Amino acid sequence: MKRYDFIIAGGGMAGLSLAYYLSKSQLRDRSILIIDREPKNRNDRTWCYWEQGVGPFEPIVFRQWSTVEFFGTTYSGPLNIGDYRYKMLRGIDFYQYIKAQLAAIPTIEIKQANIKRIKDTPQGGFVLTSQAPYIADYVFDSTFPLKLNLPRQHNLLQHFKGWVIRTEKPCFDVQRPRMMDFRIEQEGDCRFLYILPFDERTALVEYTIFNETLLAEPEYETALRRYIEQYLDTGGYEISETEYGVIPMSDEPTMESPSDHIIRIGTSGGYTKASTGYTFQRTQRYLQQLVRNLEQTGKPQRPVNRLYQWFKMFQDSVLLNVLKYRRHSMADVFTRLYARNQPADIFRFLDEDTSVWEDLRIMSTVPLGPFTVAAADVLRKRLLRV
Ligand SMILES: Cc1cc2nc3c(=O)[nH]c(=O)nc-3n(C[C@H](O)[C@H](O)[C@H](O)COP(=O)(O)OP(=O)(O)OC[C@H]3O[C@@H](n4cnc5c(N)ncnc54)[C@H](O)[C@@H]3O)c2cc1C
Repeated sequence: MKRYDFIIAGGGMAGLSLAYYLSKSQLRDRSILIIDREPKNRNDRTWCYWEQGVGPFEPIVFRQWSTVEFFGTTYSGPLNIGDYRYKMLRGIDFYQYIKAQLAAIPTIEIKQANIKRIKDTPQGGFVLTSQAPYIADYVFDSTFPLKLNLPRQHNLLQHFKGWVIRTEKPCFDVQRPRMMDFRIEQEGDCRFLYILPFDERTALVEYTIFNETLLAEPEYETALRRYIEQYLDTGGYEISETEYGVIPMSDEPTMESPSDHIIRIGTSGGYTKASTGYTFQRTQRYLQQLVRNLEQTGKPQRPVNRLYQWFKMFQDSVLLNVLKYRRHSMADVFTRLYARNQPADIFRFLDEDTSVWEDLRIMSTVPLGPFTVAAADVLRKRLLRV
């Protein structure tokens, strides 16, 4: 059985990012096997995230903007995002860019195979694929399917469908993506449209919902069609690409390090921010921390400030509780957050870069009644669990 220093199970966003950071670290000469069942040669998703300055994937950022538009309940208009840039990265560019960089390193192999089993053994992490078994000092697993079904937790979903459309008339402002547009029927959930313009006549228009139940496909399409008709003077349009996705929004505890030789990363590692679904930038941050720790200590677990993490997860749980029990309009919650604070502070808050005092100040701008009831409910459920 062939042995590697590291096996990366799943060569998607987290797996390839990890391989990229390893290839730039002191561990670049370690033997690494990346296994994915797909060739990753399709543009299967688009990532958006905010960032200050130049990030590791700057050469392949597809579009970036210094202002975003917001349409809420009591405020509509541009958001001043300070020195952040709102960036858009296409999946296919990401896969190709990283694979091209890794191809120059002889100790890194990429295999296309279905992983049937991953288990810990005294000799290392064992991976059985459709082609062969392998073993490694550490297996980094982004294929583990999270169940996220404990009834006492808040297990919601972010689900969305989008179209890249090409319009007859120029109708998109290329300088201003619409980050959140709540001018649509909310149906008691949190529903919004966003628009990422590629040029004056081409954009990704996406319908997004935060709730517990997926819609039937025609419902997303009806909502997209209705929005385009009502708010965009297209003169007619063609759909050139579609995107559909489901992201967990859950405060159920996940295990990043389930055993000695297996580390879960990406969505499988619980890297998704529960209250927003944003995963891309957290994954970059966590994996850089993980690689740094591996270089310095030989251990791949990333350092965690448990008290701060508990506090941030508590905030996420409270927001999910407001959402789940429909305690207040989420359109209004997001409007207050962005309109009563500096939008750049909200980005820092969501990135978990704020202090406890800054968090308390930001939380004082949401509707206090429903959030207090939600906080009490979350605390009660946590105490019951203990
Ligand atoms: C359509 C879409 C759009 C998104 N947009 C954003 C966004 O704008 N911003 C943001 O922050 N987050 C976004 N996300 C959320 C998140 O960033 C992505 O889901 C991201 O791809 C998660 O990375 P990952 O490595 O955990 O999973 P993936 O990228 O899905 O990688 C997992 C890999 O494992 C492989 N695999 C799974 N099972 C097996 C098996 N048994 N054998 C072999 N290989 C296997 C898969 O083929 C896949 O390549 C989006 C998600 C989707 C679905």
